[in-house]
Amino acid sequence: MAKTLANLVRLLKLTYPYRWSIALGLLCLLVATPATLFHPLVWRFIVDEVIGNRRHHLLLPALVIMVLVQLIGVALSSLRTYVLGRAGQRFVYDLRQALYGKLQDQSLLYHHDRRVGDTVARVIADVDTVQDAIRHGVDDVIANALQFLWVAGIIVGINPKVGTLTLLPMGVVGVMVWFFNIRIRGLYRRIRDRLGDLSAKLQENLVGMIIIKAFARELYELSRFSQENKRYYEESLKGELARSLYFPSVATVGFFSSVIMIGVGAYYIIQGQFTIGDLIAYRGYWWQLFSPVSALARVNELVQRCLAAASRIFEVLDAPVEVADEPGAVSVTDVSGHIVFEGVSFRYKDGPPVLREISLEVLPGQKVGVVGPSGAGKSTILGLTLRFLDPVEGRILVDGRDLRDLVQSDWRRHCAVVTQEPFLFNDTVENNIRYGRLDASPDEIRHAAALANAEEFIEKLPNGYQTVVGERGVKLSGGQKQRICIARAFLANPKVLLLDEATASVEPESEAIIQSALERLMEGRTTIIVSHRLSMVRNCDQILVIEGGKITERGTHEELMARLGWYSRMYLLQMGEVGVAVSLPSAPPPLPEPPTHRDDQPPPEIPDFTEG
Ligand code: ADP
Repeated sequence: MAKTLANLVRLLKLTYPYRWSIALGLLCLLVATPATLFHPLVWRFIVDEVIGNRRHHLLLPALVIMVLVQLIGVALSSLRTYVLGRAGQRFVYDLRQALYGKLQDQSLLYHHDRRVGDTVARVIADVDTVQDAIRHGVDDVIANALQFLWVAGIIVGINPKVGTLTLLPMGVVGVMVWFFNIRIRGLYRRIRDRLGDLSAKLQENLVGMIIIKAFARELYELSRFSQENKRYYEESLKGELARSLYFPSVATVGFFSSVIMIGVGAYYIIQGQFTIGDLIAYRGYWWQLFSPVSALARVNELVQRCLAAASRIFEVLDAPVEVADEPGAVSVTDVSGHIVFEGVSFRYKDGPPVLREISLEVLPGQKVGVVGPSGAGKSTILGLTLRFLDPVEGRILVDGRDLRDLVQSDWRRHCAVVTQEPFLFNDTVENNIRYGRLDASPDEIRHAAALANAEEFIEKLPNGYQTVVGERGVKLSGGQKQRICIARAFLANPKVLLLDEATASVEPESEAIIQSALERLMEGRTTIIVSHRLSMVRNCDQILVIEGGKITERGTHEELMARLGWYSRMYLLQMGEVGVAVSLPSAPPPLPEPPTHRDDQPPPEIPDFTEG
């Protein structure tokens, strides 16, 4: 409860930048509300005075005044809707920007630990829900509360006895709202979480569609998607049940209020204490009394949904940034590329140590190869060098300064990375290369492409450099994508180059072309090469063998070959030498034959939505 209130207060505080628009909207509201409530008083005047007391000459002026006041009220209401609507849209725009900015500031570890689909649901669906509440909420709560107070004042003013009795059932609505809120508070948060799960499952399956199809697991995945979908459906259904009881109950209370009004009104007319004009005015006001009550009940439901969504949004905004710039971090405009690891140890969260006491010096322009079995911690060394991660012990120095004392983005601007999985944006070839340096001219982009051995194939693309590639563009081979990434790195002209299995997933016929482009790229730059292909690191000034997070061998190719350790064994194996002893795990017994029928795929459990 306290947390819900805190979230509500926080949401309201977030509207502070839009206070002037909100103030203007509220001013319009203050004036418009009595103006639009004026006409039943004129009806009463016409019935009791113009007709009852035969003051016929006042009929036309009364009608003109009624129309004028109504028109002013409508114009102000329209202005209010626009001004408050604009403030709401602006609020949501800023909230999404803040969310995206925060997500971008987060460490890569944060993103590894979270499901993309769930994060997308928070930024899109949860913000939309808050937007709904802001758009209808601020405006409706205040407009309806004001209207209710005005009308309540008028009807009590016309006749205190009839007015008070008519208002009595409205108190019951307050009790209903209270019960409803208790019932749905946790439920709405669960509904939002289930939507996040569903979105995560959808995202995962779309990305992994090739595996789903290749293993013919469509039915199996349909069933797993259906499970997530059903969880969301079932929670949502509970919400529908709560709503289906809540809204008709509010309407019934309104009906009783109307019955009391007619009954009590008629009684007092018979007693001579109430006029027919009074009753007609009451009839006019009753709807204006009840419609804000039912609107407030609706808004309350909207606010509860909004608070559930807001709690998920605040979780993103409040998550601590694990790798942040220190206060007073130094900006670096130039680096020489001198990198030192001093007794660096690392572990992920509470996991086992991944790197232990790594010490290493790379002089400017030197090349260091990092090799070793899979899972030994090689990529983690690159992550630490880029400061995607911070050492648990020891430190990393760049030109003699602790990496933690530098502005991260400044340091990374001097680095370029070529990874195993080349990533291209859904954009033109030219813009993908330009990502390395945004102010590069078309000539510089072509030059970078030529250095990356990419020019020839780019010119053969349907629209040359303007061809759209990436997710929805023309399909390129792994090697072609990698060469575009290398061109991007050329354009960035970094002092430090990090290669993470850069040739591992390219087709053999491209490997030599890519290797020659990479060698050109490495010239004069400090380079750390992680590769399981030892031919890639053979010419390095220094080669490290990492096993189980520790450096077990260190030296040049010749020195390591002479040691007859892991490196020399692997090198000879890769060169195709025979008779090299490699300790492979003994083969487990073969798996049993798979069944020939397809019973291993459970039929999807899909709820039956057919009526009857
Ligand atoms: P390599 O590049 O040598 O194959 P990595 O540096 O990628 O090895 O990984 C080293 C170890 O750290 C592995 O045991 C891996 O399981 C673990 N690891 C990698 N990334 C994470 C992560 N995000 N969270 C937890 N453990 C991780």
